[in-house]
This record gives sequence, C-alpha cells and structure tokens, in this order.
Amino acid sequence: MEFPSKLIEDAVTEVAKLPGIGKKTALRLVLHLLKRDEEQTQTLAQSLTAMRTKVKYCQRCHNLSDDDLCTICANPRRDGSIICVVEDTRDVLAVENTAQYKGLYHVLGGIISPVEGIGPSDLHIESLIHRLANNLHADEPVKEIILALSPTMEGDTTAFYLQKKLRPFNLRISTIARGIPIGGDLEYADEVTLGRSILSRVVYE
Ligand SMILES: [Zn+2]
Repeated sequence: MEFPSKLIEDAVTEVAKLPGIGKKTALRLVLHLLKRDEEQTQTLAQSLTAMRTKVKYCQRCHNLSDDDLCTICANPRRDGSIICVVEDTRDVLAVENTAQYKGLYHVLGGIISPVEGIGPSDLHIESLIHRLANNLHADEPVKEIILALSPTMEGDTTAFYLQKKLRPFNLRISTIARGIPIGGDLEYADEVTLGRSILSRVVYE
C-alpha cells in the first residue's frame, strides 16, 4: 500500500497491530479520525494512555480495577460468603451481565494448560488459598466456591486441581451447570453436552 504521508502510514501501521484489524480497516479508521474534529482524536489518545498507565489489578480478586480494590470487592452489598472463580476479567463481565450473582470473584488470570506451558504456579491460586485462610475467622466467612471455568479439558483440569487444593477448607464447592442452551434443540445437541445434561439433571419444581 502506497501512502501519501509518512504520518498516516505510521498511524495505519499501529492501528493494524490490533487484533482483527487489517491494513484496509486501519486506513479507514485513520481517515475517519482525520475527517473528524482534532479534539476527538486527542480524547481517544488520552483515554487509551490513561487506561494503559492507570488501570491495575484488584489486590483481592485480581479483577481489573482503577483502585486497590475493585468496585465489586469494595461494594458492601455483595455477598462475601461466596466466591466465583473465573479464568479472566471477561468472565467476570459475562457473569455480571446475567444479574444473577451477588457474591465476590477470584480471577485466576488463565487456566492450567500443559500444552501452552501454563502450570498452577502461573495462576492466582495461592492468593485464593491465602484469601480463604485469612477469612476463616472473619465476620462473613466464605461458605461456597463456584468454579465457573470453561467446559474444556484445560477448564476441567484446573477445576480438578482447585477442588483438591480447596478441600481442607471444608467449603461447599460447586461448578456451573453444563447443558442444553435455552432455545436449543435436543436432537442437535452433541452427545457429550446431552450426556452431561442428563447426569446433572435437576428435580422438577
Ligand atoms: Zn476485587
């Protein structure tokens, strides 16, 4: 691609480094910014810089946060007796969007994957153990851990490892249910999903 301007070429090169954005899309975005008010580009650049330099991880749950404690950990109305363990911040957002959960979280920062060389020590597992150990005599002790991990081999391996590690704390350890999606057709479900749905069937109420 021939550019009339080195400045535009540099901007396109940087934008095209983002995932899912090719050179053509990058050029379209850059030209779009050139057409708009200069202020809009400045606001965009400032918000990206502020996000990159100021966002940190919650000291307790490792969720992304602007402060030492994230808004969920700092919220006194959240139920401190239950912790939902997830792989990353996107999972926190997904569970929050359901509006069905009022407990706290613990973000592992990944998942055990021997293929990618990720072991338990690369994840925030020790900090979860510390969190539970320090919590035994708290006003609102943790009673339940939900393992909300992906139904993959890596997710299952991580869940198995965690439940072994957490067993000494005598908590209720649960996993999210696996089954047929709402609106899904039984005959189109794969046999593993349908099999799991039958194994984890619930009593009709
Ligand atoms: Zn937090």
